[in-house]
Amino acid sequence: MKVVIMAGGRGTRISSVASDIPKPMIKIGNKPVLEHEIECLREQGFTDIILTVGHLGHIIMDYFGDGSKISPSTNKPFGVNIEYYVEEKPLGNAGALFKIKDKLKEDFLLLNADALFNIDFNRFVEFHKRNGGLVTLFTHPNSHPYDSGLILVDDNNSVTNWLTKEDDRPQYYNNIVNAGLHIISPTILEKNIDKEKIDLDRDLLKPLAGTGKIFSYKSPEYVKDMGTPERYRAVCKDYEEGRIQAKNLKNKQKAIFLDRDGTINKEVGFLRNIDDFELLPGVAKAIRRINESGYLAIVVTNQPVIARGEVTFEQLREIHKKMETLLGNEGAYIDDLFFCPHHPDSGFEGEVKELKIKCDCRKPNAGMLIEAAKKYNIDLEKSWMIGDSKNDIGAGKKAGCRTILLGNKVRDIGEDRRAEDLEEAVFGNNKKIDNKKGENRSDGGFDR
Ligand SMILES: [Zn+2]
Repeated sequence: MKVVIMAGGRGTRISSVASDIPKPMIKIGNKPVLEHEIECLREQGFTDIILTVGHLGHIIMDYFGDGSKISPSTNKPFGVNIEYYVEEKPLGNAGALFKIKDKLKEDFLLLNADALFNIDFNRFVEFHKRNGGLVTLFTHPNSHPYDSGLILVDDNNSVTNWLTKEDDRPQYYNNIVNAGLHIISPTILEKNIDKEKIDLDRDLLKPLAGTGKIFSYKSPEYVKDMGTPERYRAVCKDYEEGRIQAKNLKNKQKAIFLDRDGTINKEVGFLRNIDDFELLPGVAKAIRRINESGYLAIVVTNQPVIARGEVTFEQLREIHKKMETLLGNEGAYIDDLFFCPHHPDSGFEGEVKELKIKCDCRKPNAGMLIEAAKKYNIDLEKSWMIGDSKNDIGAGKKAGCRTILLGNKVRDIGEDRRAEDLEEAVFGNNKKIDNKKGENRSDGGFDR
């Protein structure tokens, strides 16, 4: 599969870090951002690369040449084939694609050189092929969905709507943000757009929302924009700490599995009404810390209210959108959520018969944790389950995770640790430390 990397941006906001070199040439560690990206591609077999360059493009061309030369930074060959398209005048970020469309006969990867990424590209491509769309967007949750553009999806990850940050948004939404990496069919370049400057998102991708031809591939892997000096420094720090490569799903991941009712939100018995969903104090702060720690935050929840016919799948989805929205408002996100809709005892009025079964997913069974482990390549022995009930500790132990029991509802049942609430579980005795700025990145004691 060919790879097109858009390396033509001017990058004015970051010019205080480096004003005389193009943004893709700014160094992270010992080499330019773009070289990190090219290495990541080459290691996974993507060696056919087209770079679109503009402002100060000659610096990029001198450095990489046609990809066969030795890297001045590493003294090793780049090991790829590079062609260039030089934008004489700005064509918008998609204009160059129309100029090189003769070279694009098959689906291709379109990447933005302004972000540093390290992802499992083959996994991304597989997802794209499986869904058969014209476009797949790489998406992720972020720590500021309230002022980000949003991607709205249905249950099959088909993009139903694409909201810019200025657009009106629903009251509650999933935290899904476009990361600027795409797989694209050249078919979309057959469109006639009578404009001098063509914007990728506005003119090409957004109009596909709701047609069933564009999908969202949501992943917790590392993709971060370095458009401002502050963000650039954050990326450098992540690089020094080895966080960027570690999050590539080719590598084993660590997760913190979280129960929902009584752990994240206030326990109200069976939660049926969305208005009863309230975050517990300190939860957003604790999940924010998990997000910064390198552990995945994954919710696993028993929702027998579905089998009992008291809440529909659609209503449950809304409740979870509320959870993601409330967490997002405080800078926290979950990487995924698994729920068990089943219940073993049948014979009640209003129940959904086919869900009244003995299943492997209902905690204390470990089905949801095992499913998550498969999906995200998680090492369960390095992971934790946190919850306030016997079922949570049971599921965690069955999966081989370490466990933390919250509150005092349940007596000692062989949990590894005990804490008053999620905040204490994550911060230990230092729970009052204000972590709003994300400066303190200790792991919350989970690695001990
Ligand atoms: Zn189940």
